[in-house]
Amino acid sequence: MLTSDRKYSPEVIRRYRELDGRGEFKRKIQQRSPVAPNYDEVLLECGHRGEYDVRLLDRMFPAASSTLNCNQCASDWLEAAQGAEGKQA
Ligand SMILES: [Zn+2]
Repeated sequence: MLTSDRKYSPEVIRRYRELDGRGEFKRKIQQRSPVAPNYDEVLLECGHRGEYDVRLLDRMFPAASSTLNCNQCASDWLEAAQGAEGKQA
């Protein structure tokens, strides 16, 4: 079974993984607020928000100030990179 919708080209994905490996999509956590018994809403320095499992947050980030990968910044980058590549083709 295919799990991906193959939205992005292999070249774009390779570049993405390279950036991701260097922590290019990590953003500082500015604020955490509980929104459900097991979820916190996290506000990141880039202004994006995301909901994360509290146990995961506590395990990964015992310190008060930490960084998280911003899924929105990552997907914005992917869309832009794929768009740029599509225009070249
Ligand atoms: Zn972001």
